[in-house]
Amino acid sequence: MTARLIVDLHALDTNIRRVQTRLAPAELMLVVKNDAYGHGISRVVPRALALGVSWFGAFDVATAAAVRRAAGDGPRIFVWLVPGRREIGDALTLDADVGVGDADVLEDVAAVAAARSQRARVHLKIDTGLHRNGIRPEEWADAVGRARSLQDAGLIEVVGIWSHIAEASDDEDDAARAAFDHAVEVARAAGLTPALRHLAASAAGTTRPEFRYEMTRVGAFCYGIAPAGGPSAADLGLTPIGTLTASVIAVEGNDAIIDIGVFDGLPSPLAGRTDVGTPGGTRRLVGVGEDSRVEGWPGMVVGDEVVIYGTGSRGEPTSTDLAEVLDTIGEEIAVRLSPTVPREDDDARSAPQS
Ligand SMILES: *Cc1c(COP(=O)(O)O)cnc(C)c1O
Repeated sequence: MTARLIVDLHALDTNIRRVQTRLAPAELMLVVKNDAYGHGISRVVPRALALGVSWFGAFDVATAAAVRRAAGDGPRIFVWLVPGRREIGDALTLDADVGVGDADVLEDVAAVAAARSQRARVHLKIDTGLHRNGIRPEEWADAVGRARSLQDAGLIEVVGIWSHIAEASDDEDDAARAAFDHAVEVARAAGLTPALRHLAASAAGTTRPEFRYEMTRVGAFCYGIAPAGGPSAADLGLTPIGTLTASVIAVEGNDAIIDIGVFDGLPSPLAGRTDVGTPGGTRRLVGVGEDSRVEGWPGMVVGDEVVIYGTGSRGEPTSTDLAEVLDTIGEEIAVRLSPTVPREDDDARSAPQS
């Protein structure tokens, strides 16, 4: 396969620094779910560590394990999908913090910690309106009471309180924040002293200071992925770090056939609805199939490189532009790209070949 996702690690550095500066004094938790939004945990995590990032957000235990391999001992890993005792045990083996959004999971965490003679670091999740795995407000007082007992018994330590918000409208987010603040008060009244509150992700965290608390979980913006339907990456002072390229593998009449398609994660509804960057200027992507088809240009030859998405420097769209074409969320295109498409560092590419 000739298709490549070229990852610009310098742009990653710059984005992370900008986000850190924006959030300070709140701390950045770099969200690395979906293999760092498709860019590769093994290359993203070491760069982030070098910039002082000490918290990583992993959706599941497999991701947490990949972060631990890349980060070594020390950096904190927050994993928020631990649906059963096996996953909880794996998380504790990785010395990860666990997100708990369910009273039954809290009991499981305590049981696993007891069996291992280990104390689990827990972040309790309040449902502030998204109804996506969080302790319901009416069950919160009981849950924090129970957490306090388990903490007194030495089985858990409640280090954080968190929630996730839609970031679709300020009014909804404000209502969620009020519910969050109330939940924190109830937890404190129960005798818990969580040092970390984290609520926001990229959008609210960077634009609304009152949403930052002690820590903010940011994924998209660090990868230079802007929200669909919102300000562009350039407007936000960010650079997309991933550029997807493919080579011309055949010329058919006026069309260039390129070596990437639906099986590589290029969504077929993009056909006819986006341009790509080519050596002959921008051209329409006219078909997406097993291989895909681009309207030709004068002098095109097999081996020419086509840019499907990137920063826009060669006229190509950003991955957010493509997400907007499909009316989906900003990071959808990046996370959909198949793991079989090789990822390559920008540095490796520009280094002299011997
Ligand atoms: C994906 C995710 C984030 C990061 O969201 P971005 O918009 O990419 O910054 C934060 N928290 C949770 C729970 C998530 O699932």
